[in-house]
Amino acid sequence: MTTSLRHEGRTALVTGGSRGIGRAISRRLAEEGALVAVHYGHDLTAAERTVKEIEAEGGRAFAVHAELGVPGDAATLWEAFDRALAEQGAGPGLDILVNNAGITVPRTIAHVTEEDYDRVFAINTKAPFFIVQRGLDRLRDGGRIVNISSVATKFGYPAIVAYTMTKAALDYLTLALAKELGPRGITVNSVAPGYTETEINPTLSIPEIRQRYSDASVFGRLGRPADIADIVSFVASDDARWTTGQWIDASGGVHLGI
Ligand code: NAD
Repeated sequence: MTTSLRHEGRTALVTGGSRGIGRAISRRLAEEGALVAVHYGHDLTAAERTVKEIEAEGGRAFAVHAELGVPGDAATLWEAFDRALAEQGAGPGLDILVNNAGITVPRTIAHVTEEDYDRVFAINTKAPFFIVQRGLDRLRDGGRIVNISSVATKFGYPAIVAYTMTKAALDYLTLALAKELGPRGITVNSVAPGYTETEINPTLSIPEIRQRYSDASVFGRLGRPADIADIVSFVASDDARWTTGQWIDASGGVHLGI
């Protein structure tokens, strides 16, 4: 029996794909055969490292630069994507779009400035909206959009109120867009991580916080980027063709509580 790779012949774009969860998603999609555009905002070194890791594992990837959260960001991203794709000698078009890039504002509401609020919405909510809008002609029928949300949108946590609002809006982009794009066979889903070991969570270096977040999962540990990447890869695959508009928990059962 021959087994084929799940994403063979597909092209994927992962925003914020150079590090953390995005890096794991980029690697996983490439491992399963996709040609992966590893988008980055600031850290070219990290993006190049991720591309090299993928190539060393026998996969195909290239880096795409665009700062998100600034006017015209989506247009810049797609222009860079088109250019880089042509340089790869690959045909135009995209099969898998993962809106992963995001930031937090880890402050209680009293300390959130208007600038903080605008910036977190610009990167976490506005950018994915316009990336999708500007990418519609590139996205092939039968394609996949995966929005990286957060368990915060279901359960709420203190000190990340603005962040939670951005991800809740992203979940409704998922829901409404799934209906708009359904006739084209495109699925749109949110994958929602819980506490995951990445640089977005600097407080994980504090032992008590690390323990508390680990204990929040029924498995008694923090999420790893690969835990999220495996779920995204499934949602992006043909096996998940019959699920759309969904919010998919990727938290190790954080919400199950005690
Ligand atoms: P991370 O900080 O390591 O990664 C965030 C990525 O977004 C980076 O690649 C970064 O370069 C990119 N990015 C941020 N601002 C950007 C900008 N202005 N322009 C371009 N790129 C920009 O953190 P992560 O945990 O890997 O986060 C990935 C996604 O997962 C985020 O959307 C985050 O909200 C979500 N998430 C993470 C956790 C967690 O506990 N780690 C939990 C729930 C959801």
